[in-house]
Amino acid sequence: MLNIVLFGPPGAGKGTQSERLIEKYNLVHLSTGDIFRANIKGETELGKLAKSFMDQGKLVPDSVTIDMLRSEVLKQSTPNGFIFDGFPRTNAQAAALDEFLLTIDSSILLMLALEVEENELKTRLLKRAGVSGRADDADPVIIENRIRVYNNETAPVKDYYKQQGKFVSIDGIGTIDDITQRLFSVIDEKN
Ligand code: ADP
Repeated sequence: MLNIVLFGPPGAGKGTQSERLIEKYNLVHLSTGDIFRANIKGETELGKLAKSFMDQGKLVPDSVTIDMLRSEVLKQSTPNGFIFDGFPRTNAQAAALDEFLLTIDSSILLMLALEVEENELKTRLLKRAGVSGRADDADPVIIENRIRVYNNETAPVKDYYKQQGKFVSIDGIGTIDDITQRLFSVIDEKN
């Protein structure tokens, strides 16, 4: 299986680039943020719980997120591979993902980390709020909080994959097509 972690701060372009990658490599896109939002919309218990954290820009607890991710992976019958978007966001999630993939005889091939500086992220998120309708994009205080959580809790996950020799940094500034080409060439080299 071709399993990729697409990594980066909020607003780095993970969702946009995921669409390109799933099409080219025939992968299943698993965005934990999207799955939480679908649960909020469907008013499930999981959605209610997730919303209380997401509205503040905090992470949903690891145990909840890991269980949900596992069940989403198992829903797929014969996938070519997965793009993990917005997961793992903590070292505990990364370790749980490795452990789980091992049980289905699989592993992560690469972590591709989109790098975008903070001011650009804030501009992109506020702009996205207009189309996404997401409350966590519209409020500068929540955006600050998400970026802080990223820096403190999520950025260290890079070291987890560096230690495994799977980390690749990708310049996330440029046209959408430019960035897609950067991703394609790294994947094609490794795959
Ligand atoms: P972005 O990357 O733009 O912040 P996401 O859609 O990936 O947006 O995530 C939105 C929110 O969903 C996060 O701020 C967090 O509250 C929650 N969330 C998403 N993925 C995870 C995860 N892996 N662990 C914990 N919380 C998560």
